[in-house]
Amino acid sequence: CSGGGLLVYSDSNPLKRTLTADGQETKKKKVVVLGSGWGGYSFLSYLNNPNYDVQVVSPRNFFLFTPLLPSVTNGTVEARSIVEPIRGLMRKKGFEYTEAECVKIDASNKKILCRSKDGASKDAKEFDMDYDILVVAVGAKPNTFNTPGVEENAHFLKEAEDALKIRQTVINSFERASLPDLTEEERKRILHFVVVGGGPTGVEFSAELHDFLVEDVAKIYPKVQEFTRITLLEAGDHILNMFDKRITAFAEEKFQRDGIDLKTKNMVVGVTADEISTKEIATGRIVSEPYGMVVWSTGIGIRPVIKEFMHQIGQGQRRVLATDEWLRVEGCDSVYALGDTATINQRRVMEDIAAIFSKADKGETGTLNKKEFKSVVKDICQRYPQVELYLKKKKLRNIANLLKSANGDDTEVNIETFKQALSEVDTQMKNLPATAQVASQQGKYLAKCFNKMEKCEKKPEGPLRFRGEGRHRFQPFRYRHFGSFAPLGGEQTAAELPGDWVSIGHSSQWLWYSVYASKLVSWRTRSLVVSDWVRRFIFGRDSSS
Ligand code: FAD
Ligand code: MG
Ligand code: MG
Ligand code: MG
Ligand code: MG
Repeated sequence: CSGGGLLVYSDSNPLKRTLTADGQETKKKKVVVLGSGWGGYSFLSYLNNPNYDVQVVSPRNFFLFTPLLPSVTNGTVEARSIVEPIRGLMRKKGFEYTEAECVKIDASNKKILCRSKDGASKDAKEFDMDYDILVVAVGAKPNTFNTPGVEENAHFLKEAEDALKIRQTVINSFERASLPDLTEEERKRILHFVVVGGGPTGVEFSAELHDFLVEDVAKIYPKVQEFTRITLLEAGDHILNMFDKRITAFAEEKFQRDGIDLKTKNMVVGVTADEISTKEIATGRIVSEPYGMVVWSTGIGIRPVIKEFMHQIGQGQRRVLATDEWLRVEGCDSVYALGDTATINQRRVMEDIAAIFSKADKGETGTLNKKEFKSVVKDICQRYPQVELYLKKKKLRNIANLLKSANGDDTEVNIETFKQALSEVDTQMKNLPATAQVASQQGKYLAKCFNKMEKCEKKPEGPLRFRGEGRHRFQPFRYRHFGSFAPLGGEQTAAELPGDWVSIGHSSQWLWYSVYASKLVSWRTRSLVVSDWVRRFIFGRDSSS
């Protein structure tokens, strides 16, 4: 700084400076956001705090609307229609974007190492970036469970390029199978499509592929249509096992009727260039079958950069990066994580029960009176989501009712009764699923916390004073489930909505269309997708590769 009332900064960009409450100009806090997917994009869209200098690092300069990705594989929707360039949002918000991948997080020096996207080429660049606050939303990578040959021979369905490659491969397969002088065996091999994984993505892709074969291929490639086969492999007992049993049963029956070869209790043990080997779990028998294309969709794994980061901060033993309920990464400072890359390390009520009780017991009488009890109950419900789930399961309105069964008519509650009443709530603890719904709600939640950060730092009295984290005034993250869909092909969709409401069929397909159209992040993508749908209804799918 220099005198004369004029401040001169080495870093003179006004966008990076801010005024404090007493009129002093200071450097803005630098928030670095890793990732432009569901978590990152949602965080950035809701972030409205002029006191942050926001820098986004992602190898992808667009947001991808993943729920419609399976529809890209057969040309129902164009890839361009479901991506939203990130530069527009950056300009609107005054944020900066760098197209690069973070390859190392150095939490002790508050620095990250980045590599430009063209990693292997001679123009590739590596550079450091420092941060005051880091928001990690890098998502996950496909999980091969180290099955030999998968990385080399199978397709994944995670990014826009993946969907386009699958689409090309499907169409090329039909062209190749239509060449003259092929044996029947060869045509059968080329047109054998194998999907591995009976979760929502694998099921939806199988359904989309089947629709394409029935509605389009039959007309375009009538000579080879009889040689096509779709096999869906699942290691568990059923497909869609996270859904209601009625949906699983409907999906399995529909696939059987459609002629999709559904093989449950079958685990893939290896994939070569033209054969896929599976093990029947019951018998241990290994069977190899020729195939033309394999799509691998068996869940997600952790990215290498996160794995290394976890070792650094003492989370090396864990399977996923853990945060607390405020999305703060455990074991380091000023780093937040959300979406598929992290899980919330939910506290058990039973672990904290003595502390909860003694904090609530203001008069230190050893029992809680009505007023003390009421105030602690509110905090517990907010802090431990399992309590609400437990009450719902037991069909109870509130903890007071729960306590009545333990306490009889007594108005004072002692620690033993308190423990007994809550003894089973922890059985309802669940990790949140790796979904767009969770990631986007977390992004919105975190942005709202950031938007009022200064206020909260000045008045740090939190709602939950009993666990030492009281310095935080924010309520912990709470997930609201709005339901899930499983499109099953043939204009039919299964929907599972809150309150055990299950609906399957054409009407839910329309619900699906409208929900997804409304969830698209901009009017541009919305109109593109809707016109893709209309085009498909009128003209059918495009089959050029
Ligand atoms: P992502 O959305 O994957 O975003 C990760 C971002 O980080 C990307 O921009 C990526 O380029 C970037 N990145 C990666 N590595 C780095 C790095 N080293 N440094 C910096 N940036 C990096 N969920 C639903 O709720 N409903 C659905 O219908 C649904 N359908 C799906 C269909 C498919 C085919 C797939 C693949 C997923 C589907 N999901 C669905 C799941 C949903 O897409 C994910 O849960 C969601 O994308 C998670 O958000 P995220 O921000 O954690 O990760
Ligand atoms: Mg993201
Ligand atoms: Mg995404
Ligand atoms: Mg998660
Ligand atoms: Mg008392």
